[in-house]
Amino acid sequence: MAEGKKVENVIIIGGGPAGYTAALYTARANLEPLVFEGFQWGGQLQNTTDVENYPGFPEGIMGPQMMGKFREQAERFGTRFVTDDVDRVELSDGGVQKVFLGDEEHRAKTLILAMGAEPKRLGIPGEMELGGRGVSTCGVCDGAFFKDQKVIVIGGGDSAMEDSIFISKFASDLTVVTRRDQFRASKIMLDRASEKDNIEFKNPYEPLEFVAGESGKLEKVRFRHAETGAEEELETNGAFVAIGHVPKSEIVQGQVETDEDGYIVTESGSTRTNLGGVFAVGDVVDHTYRQAVTAAGTGCMGALDAERYLRDSAPPVEAHWFPGGEPAEIATGSG
Ligand code: NAP
Repeated sequence: MAEGKKVENVIIIGGGPAGYTAALYTARANLEPLVFEGFQWGGQLQNTTDVENYPGFPEGIMGPQMMGKFREQAERFGTRFVTDDVDRVELSDGGVQKVFLGDEEHRAKTLILAMGAEPKRLGIPGEMELGGRGVSTCGVCDGAFFKDQKVIVIGGGDSAMEDSIFISKFASDLTVVTRRDQFRASKIMLDRASEKDNIEFKNPYEPLEFVAGESGKLEKVRFRHAETGAEEELETNGAFVAIGHVPKSEIVQGQVETDEDGYIVTESGSTRTNLGGVFAVGDVVDHTYRQAVTAAGTGCMGALDAERYLRDSAPPVEAHWFPGGEPAEIATGSG
């Protein structure tokens, strides 16, 4: 098929802030990027309401609207989008990178991996239904909406401590609920959270359900004591689920270097992976910051790294890339 013969300059996998920023930069460099943005394009911001911490939007902006603007800006310079999920890839160290949608094969000289991450979910009733109506997975994004209100944070790791410390600046009372009486959080983070006057800890309790009030917003959370089984309800205005994140790296597992948690490993200070021509950006790499603005920043880095690779190191297109095949059509345009 025609698409199978063409070798793109750059394919980007991922339609969040990192992927769209990589697309914007590579498009402006006349590299004509092809973006596989996923069936649910927009990444995690597609599930967010107001974004008040992205610079340049002093009045704030809705998450999906912001992603629409990112996409529009990348499209303006010639980015092509495929609104579907990639099924698999065949990665090469310095050769042609292959991306498959079913049997449909797409080839590129460089690949930018920007699949993002997703927050771990509890999988209990009300969790998804009350998203944006009291239940959140991002303290930094949504903490400020709970000024002088009662808030619950679920989780006992560093993410939960970090969220709690941040949200405690706004909330009147904050309860950190953990399912065990041990914490995974580092001592320093636990100490910092414990020192806050308005943070208290409650354990060992397993969350059972998020319950809405008549307004349709979260009103209480049902818990069960992990040892006695006794059930209890806590009234609250907001509940933050902070039990970790999972990088969306399944399609590249076993092909590119990842760490024990599945995050793609890049060289320090760059977006280069262990494979020539394969770059990784955004939350699929980032354990720590996980903000739209940091994802966008590394998306820009990935585009510049890919552009430099194409200028300096991209292999010539030779027949051995397509053994027994017809000559390849090369995507035009260079940086
Ligand atoms: P984590 O360390 O894996 O902690 C997850 C927490 O959520 C644990 O308390 C765990 O309980 C709990 N949990 C998991 N599933 C649950 C469920 N179904 N119901 C109730 N509780 C559940 O994850 P993390 O806090 O996101 O940290 C991940 C890594 O990032 C760590 O290496 C951390 O140090 C790092 N990090 C660092 C910072 C920082 O330094 N500023 C900030 C954030 C993250 P159990 O213990 O019972 O499993």
